[in-house]
Amino acid sequence: GRVQTPDYLSGLNPEQREAVETTEGPVLVLAGAGTGKTRVLTTRLAHILATGRARPWEMLVVTFTNKAAREMRERISHLIGPDAEGLRWLGTFHSVAAQILRRHAELVGLQSSFTILDTDDQERLLKQLLEAANIDTKKHTPKSLAGAIDQWKNRGWTPEKLPPGEDFAEGKGQKLYAAYQNRLRTLNACDFGDLLLHNLTILSQNADIAEEYRRRFKYILVDEYQDTNVAQYLWLRLLTSSSGNVCCVGDDDQSIYGWRGAEVDNILRFERDFPGAKVIRLEQNYRSTAHILGAAGALIAANKERLGKQLWTEDDSGDKVRVRGFWDGDAEARMIAEEIEDARRRGIAYKDIAVLVRASFQMRAFEERFVMLAIPYKVIGGPRFFERAEIRDAHAYIRLIQSEADDLAFERIVNVPKRGVGDTSVSKILHMGRENGVSAMQIVRHLMTSDELPGRTRTPLTNFVRDLDRWRDLLKTGTPHWQVMETVLDESGYTDMQKADKTSGQTRLDNLKELVQSMQQFDTLQSYLEHVSLVMDLERNAEEESSSGSVQIMTLHGAKGLEFPLVFLPGWEEGVFPSQRSIDEKGIKGLEEERRLAYVGVTRAKRDARISFAANRMVYGRWQTQMPSRFVDELPIEHVEPQSDTGYYSPTPAQRPQSRWDDKPFAGSSHDTPGWKRAQASSNKAIYGDTGFGANLHGGNASARNTYAPARKAIVE
Ligand code: ATP
Ligand code: MG
Repeated sequence: GRVQTPDYLSGLNPEQREAVETTEGPVLVLAGAGTGKTRVLTTRLAHILATGRARPWEMLVVTFTNKAAREMRERISHLIGPDAEGLRWLGTFHSVAAQILRRHAELVGLQSSFTILDTDDQERLLKQLLEAANIDTKKHTPKSLAGAIDQWKNRGWTPEKLPPGEDFAEGKGQKLYAAYQNRLRTLNACDFGDLLLHNLTILSQNADIAEEYRRRFKYILVDEYQDTNVAQYLWLRLLTSSSGNVCCVGDDDQSIYGWRGAEVDNILRFERDFPGAKVIRLEQNYRSTAHILGAAGALIAANKERLGKQLWTEDDSGDKVRVRGFWDGDAEARMIAEEIEDARRRGIAYKDIAVLVRASFQMRAFEERFVMLAIPYKVIGGPRFFERAEIRDAHAYIRLIQSEADDLAFERIVNVPKRGVGDTSVSKILHMGRENGVSAMQIVRHLMTSDELPGRTRTPLTNFVRDLDRWRDLLKTGTPHWQVMETVLDESGYTDMQKADKTSGQTRLDNLKELVQSMQQFDTLQSYLEHVSLVMDLERNAEEESSSGSVQIMTLHGAKGLEFPLVFLPGWEEGVFPSQRSIDEKGIKGLEEERRLAYVGVTRAKRDARISFAANRMVYGRWQTQMPSRFVDELPIEHVEPQSDTGYYSPTPAQRPQSRWDDKPFAGSSHDTPGWKRAQASSNKAIYGDTGFGANLHGGNASARNTYAPARKAIVE
C-alpha cells in the first residue's frame, strides 16, 4: 500500500499540503509573497502525476514567463523524472494559446503555418493602413494604434465587439481595427494579442472543440493569477470543465500589470465563478526575515484597495532594512558597487545579489560602475544600456558627425527618423561608395549635385547633409558635445518620433536623457566615444561567467516571483519611484500600483534589503533636487536602519556643480514640503530628524519635521 507520505509532501505546512491534496474542484490560493504559492503549484503538479490522476499531457499549466515555465519543468523532472517531458501544455498564456491556434488556424481564416509578427512588422502594416485611410500618421502614430489594438485584444474585443466608447483617430477605430485584422489574414499572420483572441473565437464558436479541450485538460494550474487580463481570464473559463479542477495562485498585493490590462478583479471573481471554490490562505513566509516582512507589510498597508492579509516568519534573525540617502545617482552606484564587493568578500555569490530598478534608465550608472570594477553582471529582460536601439541611434548620429567615413553609422540613421530615403537608395549609395573606395557620405555629397537620384530622394538627403554640417560646426565652434547631442536629437526629429510613441517612447526618452548626462562626464567627444567602446568590449568579457555567477540587474516588473539573498533597491525618489506619471495621474490607482511594485521589490529579498535614494539627479545638464520617495516615509522605524556611519559622498563646493539649491530654498524646507508629507509628519512613526540626509540620517523622533532633503550645511561647509 501507499500509506507512506511521499517525500515531496513532507516538506509542506498543513495549508500548503491542503492546497496540494485538494486535487478535485476549484481551488484558489490567495497568499502574500514568499509563502510558497509557486512551490504549492509545482508540488501539486507532481502530486497529480505521481498519483496517476492524470498524464503529463492532460495538464494545463500556465506561468507568467517562459523562464518560470522552464524552471517549473526542471523542478518537476527532479520530482518525477523523465515523465516531465510529456508536459506539452506547460508554458505562458501566449505559448499555450499559440499551440492551440496552430491546430485550428483554419477556423479563423489562417493556415497552421501562420507567422507571428514582431512589432516592427506590425507597425509597418498599421502605417500603410493609416496612410490608406488618409490619417496623419504624425498625429495618430502606428505605434499608438498598435497600443490601442493591443488593449482591445487584452479585453477580448474583436472589431465587431468593440464597445462604442473605444476609438482611434476620431471615429475610425473600428474600421482600422477591422482592416488590420483582414490584412493579417491575407498575410497568414497574427500578432501577439491575436493568439488569445483567436483562441477565444475558436473556443466560443465551436462547442465540440471547446469540449475536446475541456476533456483533455483534467487539471488546470495557474501561477501569478493576479496579473491575468480579461482575455486570459475568458480563455481559462472556456477551457475549464464543469468538474472545475482548476487551481489558481496569486496575491492581490502583487498585481503590477494593471497598465497592461490585468484585472485584480479576477481574483475576487473566482469565488463567484466557481461556487464552492476552496480558498486557501498561506500565512507563513519562508523567504524573508522578520525585518524584511515588517518593512514590506507596513508599506503595503498604506494601500486602500486590498484584501488584506497577515504574514509571519520564523526567521527573526537578520538585519533591519537599510535606508540610505546619497548625494547623487553616481554616489549611489559607487556605494552599491562597493557593498557588492564587500558582500562577495563575505562569501555571498554574485548571482545571489540583485539590483532592482523602477525604470531602465537607472541601469546605466550601475552597469558602468560594475564594468569599471570588473563585477560580473547581467541585465535581465532587456538589452544592456549601450545596446539599446535608441542609444545606438544617438551614437550613430554623433559618430557620423565626428567622422563622415562611418558608413555603419550612416546606414543606421540616414532614414531614422523617416525622411523618405528608401532602402534601395541607401543600398545603392553604400554600393557606389564601396565601388569607388569612398564613404557613403562622399557619395551623398556627390549625388546632391547630380541628377542620378530622383528629386524626392535628393531633397531629404540634401537636408540631411546640411543638418550634419550644421551640427559639426556647433561642435567645432566649442559647443559642448553633450549639448550637440541634445540638439541633434531634437533637430533631427528623433525626440519627436519618441514622443509620438505612447508605448515605450517615454522610456526611450528617459534613456536618452541619461545618455546626455553621462556624456557630460567627459571632456571631449573623442574620450566619450572611446569610453563607450571600452565599456561595450568589457561588457562582452564580463559575460563569461565567473564561478559565482553574475549580479542581476533588472526592473521591478521583471523580478516578480524571484528571490535573492541580497537585494538593492535604488532610486526611491518622488518622480522616479513612484513614477511621475503615477503622481500626475488623477486618483490613487496608479500610486497604489507603484506601491505594490515596491512591495514586490522588498519581498524579493531573503536576508538583506537595501533601499536608497539620491538627493540630486542630473537631467539634461541641470541638477534636479529629488525628494525621497513617499514609500521611504512609510517604512516603519522598528524594521529600518537609516544608515549614517560610512562613506557617503560629500563633495566640496569646488566639485559641486551649480545647482538649483544655490538660490532656492530646499525642497525639504517647510516652505516646499508637499501637503501629503506635512500631513503625515506628526503621525509618522518613522521620523529620521530634520536634517535627515546621508551622514545626518538618524533614528529618533526629536523633530516633528519629516524630511530627508539635504540640509544646507551638509553641502556648503
Ligand atoms: P511570490 O509571491 O514572490 O511568487 P511564492 O508565494 O510563490 O512567492 P515561493 O517562491 O513558492 O513563494 O516560495 C518562497 C520560498 O520559500 C522558496 O525558496 C521556497 O522554496 C520556500 N518554501 C516554500 N514553502 C516552504 C516550506 N514549506 N518549507 C520550506 N521552504 C519553503
Ligand atoms: Mg511565486
